[in-house]
Amino acid sequence: SAKRLKSGYSIYSEEQDEKDPYRLLLMGDLRAAIEKNELYLVYQPKAELKTNTILSAEALLRWKHPKLGLIPPSDFIPIAEQIGVINAITTWVLNEALKQSKLWEAEHIDIEIAVNLSARNLQDAELPIRLKALLQQYGVSPRKITLEITESFIMADPVRAKEVLMNIHEMGIQLSIDDFGTGYSSLAYLKTLPVDTIKIDKSFVADMANDATDSMIVRSIIFLAHNLGLKVVAEGVEDLQSWNMLASYGCDIIQGYYLQKPLAPYEFKRWLVARME
Ligand code: C2E
Ligand code: CA
Ligand code: CA
Ligand code: CA
Repeated sequence: SAKRLKSGYSIYSEEQDEKDPYRLLLMGDLRAAIEKNELYLVYQPKAELKTNTILSAEALLRWKHPKLGLIPPSDFIPIAEQIGVINAITTWVLNEALKQSKLWEAEHIDIEIAVNLSARNLQDAELPIRLKALLQQYGVSPRKITLEITESFIMADPVRAKEVLMNIHEMGIQLSIDDFGTGYSSLAYLKTLPVDTIKIDKSFVADMANDATDSMIVRSIIFLAHNLGLKVVAEGVEDLQSWNMLASYGCDIIQGYYLQKPLAPYEFKRWLVARME
């Protein structure tokens, strides 16, 4: 449906993929991008609506290609999955994010960090072990870390997903369902999986001030989540009107350009300090 298209999924066919020179170029260069220091993270804040405080930030991956410039993750994450480097990339992201968590802690910046996982990471049996090792290495409390996972992550292999997620959640790491509302999944998994928050997909949030169907969907998701004891994040909030609507619906946490775009760590710190003054 149009809703799915709005949420930014790529829908080109395999055949086009093979011939697309841009894709081929990215494919060839991605493997070396980590060693060549071309990847970096930016951080987008999330605000608690009730208190208007910044409690957390989402780490978002960027690739600065030497010739092509900035490549969006929507272009290279699917390639990373396809050529089998997604586990290496996720490990790199986790390492960076935990390092940043420790740095901020040392600077008395009390911020939780959320990291995005790809559905493919589920097939990595080492993931929980590696997470535990990284938490230990950096001396970061698992409570400071949230993993954002999509419904496709769960649906790819529900039994395995449950096992991995239980494992990770038992360490004290928080789990969030990303892009909520865009998948085909039944809602049943929300009852059985150790999920703490859901993030309403920005395709419902972006236009909610003008679209009665979208605002009804957002309201229903908040109602459902709260009845299941889950917290709700709305992503992609771009204007004050949507912000106010979400507040009136009892949404817990807000993220989007209206609050702030993703920032480099030093910019993030500067913004936080300025905001508190
Ligand atoms: P996502 O996890 O749903 O992240 C939200 C995307 O929306 C981000 O795009 C963010 O910059 C953008 N955004 C934030 N606020 C607004 C807003 O108010 N309006 C609009 N229109 N967009 C907003 P970005 O950074 O390009 O990331 C795109 C997707 O790439 C992410 O979607 C996520 O699925 C994936 N991704 C990013 N970083 C990572 C990563 O480290 N690992 C994995 N596996 N995937 C990642
Ligand atoms: Ca996310
Ligand atoms: Ca999302
Ligand atoms: Ca998305």
